[in-house]
Amino acid sequence: MPAEFGIVYPLWNEVLAPRDLLERVAGEVGLDHITVPVITGPWHEFRLVTPLEPERSFATEGGWHFPPVSERYRPTGVIPRTARWTGKRNHLARLCERAGALSLRLVFRVDLRGAACASEQHAHLRMRDAWDDELPWACVAQAELRELLYAVLADLACYEPAGIELADWALDTSTGQAHETSLSWHAGARRLANTCFCPACRQVAAHAGLDADHIARSVRVHTERMLTHPEDDWRGMLAADELLKAYRHGVRPRECADWLTQLSASHPQERQYLLRPVTANGDCTPAGWYPLLDTPAGTTHEELERGILNRTERWEETPTVWGLSLPVWRPTFTDSAALVRMVTQTAAAARLFDLDGVSTALPEAITWLKQAVRFARRG
Ligand SMILES: [Zn+2]
Repeated sequence: MPAEFGIVYPLWNEVLAPRDLLERVAGEVGLDHITVPVITGPWHEFRLVTPLEPERSFATEGGWHFPPVSERYRPTGVIPRTARWTGKRNHLARLCERAGALSLRLVFRVDLRGAACASEQHAHLRMRDAWDDELPWACVAQAELRELLYAVLADLACYEPAGIELADWALDTSTGQAHETSLSWHAGARRLANTCFCPACRQVAAHAGLDADHIARSVRVHTERMLTHPEDDWRGMLAADELLKAYRHGVRPRECADWLTQLSASHPQERQYLLRPVTANGDCTPAGWYPLLDTPAGTTHEELERGILNRTERWEETPTVWGLSLPVWRPTFTDSAALVRMVTQTAAAARLFDLDGVSTALPEAITWLKQAVRFARRG
């Protein structure tokens, strides 16, 4: 099965990008789909090419980038917040028409955790760490966040997407455009300190007969030990803690995967992808979902290669559909040859490519993209 190629096309391109950008890229590169981020967290980007000069930068507080149908959300008790830049216009409907005229399939990217963590309205959905401090990201174990996702998918169904990408839908992880800088010198301690003990996570643990208070105490002790004695064998220390392992890697991830499987079964018409950073640890892909590796802004070429090599070997053992979200330009790729090489090498295994950053790069990026797709299709 040949790979499908598409570009990530944010809705604000409808007012900020050169008017014919989509038609030009679709014509020159030969795209199969466009991936449209329809719900995001706060976003800021600098644009090298814009018809609105001297305006160079675009910022949004995030939220719904299309007009939500409020009745869909009434049972959830949440009023979805439309991003202010839209001026309440339906840019998504217009983009769908343009995509239809170009015979492009539509894939919607949903970062509900990013949108939720930016809003005080959703503060009660936030993760809580082992010290009972609030973390700024919504927890995927929360029933209300899950109900909200059901409502979002129902709301988007009228646009007839071919696929849905769910961004950063994972336990104990950060989300959004901003890089996580806290404890950046000890990634292991940071991951452990991000273990969530919100009421929903505690409830899942209690169902499985696990004592969350006891496990939270272990997280505090282990984290402090890792930070004060970073040279010790912390991996061995964590591996020996059976209760902690059951909490972090057993009962909670299993419960989340079961819920995602149910969600997928209720939306059989679309292909569903779980978008996770290429540098993230651990993959658990529930039935009905396909893994999609994301390359967060600022990822170097070396980090990308390491992340891909770590995973592709395992995925080739179990042939499945998976995809790759790749920037087409700097800083990950500094020349066209590197992009061509990466796309060609992975095209044999990846089924979907989301090529990102065309609208914020110099026009040369379109030429790089054209070369990469052409070489990969030639096989
Ligand atoms: Zn939680």
